Amino acid sequence: MVNTTEVSPESITQTQEPKNVLFGQSEEYIAQCPLCKTIETVTIGGGSQLLTTRKFYQSGRYIYHKCGSVQPCRLFRGQ
Ligand SMILES: [Zn+2]
Repeated sequence: MVNTTEVSPESITQTQEPKNVLFGQSEEYIAQCPLCKTIETVTIGGGSQLLTTRKFYQSGRYIYHKCGSVQPCRLFRGQ
């Protein structure tokens, strides 16, 4: 009984990422600016991408208010 079937190792380098990450479900957060105390609702897309860019901008994982604050906004999960 000879087993001649070769089992090739499966590729483990492929990461399974959802293809619709950019258009996935977006979530709303409450952003509070530590400088001017403004509280605004911002929308963050599925890829942790800030979609509300009128009054805020994103730098890395943080969101900053465009009032000149050098400290990132606090984010709270909204409804
Ligand atoms: Zn501000």
